[in-house]
Amino acid sequence: MRLRNITGARELIGNSEFVIHDPEGQKGNWHGIFGNNNPIHIEIGMGKGRFIMDMAKAHADINYVGIEKYSSVLLRAVQKMEQDPLANVRFIRMDAESIAEVFGKEEIGRIYLNFSDPWPKDRHAKRRLPSREFLGRYDKILEKGGHLEFKTDNEDLFRFAMEELEPAGWRAKKVTFDLHHDAEMLEGNIMTEYEERFSAMGNAIYKYVIER
Ligand code: SAM
Repeated sequence: MRLRNITGARELIGNSEFVIHDPEGQKGNWHGIFGNNNPIHIEIGMGKGRFIMDMAKAHADINYVGIEKYSSVLLRAVQKMEQDPLANVRFIRMDAESIAEVFGKEEIGRIYLNFSDPWPKDRHAKRRLPSREFLGRYDKILEKGGHLEFKTDNEDLFRFAMEELEPAGWRAKKVTFDLHHDAEMLEGNIMTEYEERFSAMGNAIYKYVIER
């Protein structure tokens, strides 16, 4: 996914009105950024941003913040927004490890993780976005009654994510091992770039919805 050698990516991102450049300074003030009191939903590791922008078009009464670690990837989302601006979307370029320094207590209504990097080596387990360490960070920013949705085609990562729930104090509300053949969970599904690619290859898509 990481695109290299894109000249000027940092400059383009640095000048974009859709990117929040001092996210820590906005802690507790995200509704002010959007100028309304609509719920704020975030996607962590949004890649090129197709999912979050399609969600924003489908749900104009929700504010969306897309988080991506790499400028070279975020650039693609910024370019799309410049062409087709959406008032209810903003982006942050950051490592989600410091997410609790960017959003205040219960400031977020829902969290999406889509096709998160698997980090297959055991010693890198803490870097996996559905790990107990990350669930602890999400716990700080997610409102009471809010939930987190995770999709992947990676069976090992999904099983790991399920095992992390109990020790982190979360529980599964809904689970499917084949989203695209689960009529109830598929309702309203918006495909991500990776989801389209991997489901076209015949891979099953796993999904859970969790709460604490
Ligand atoms: N969600 C998109 C999709 O489903 O098409 C992209 C999936 S891609 C495999 C994972 C993305 O997450 C990459 O763009 C990667 O840079 C980003 N990412 C991984 N770890 C991250 C972190 N700790 N903080 C922010 N972004 C991260």
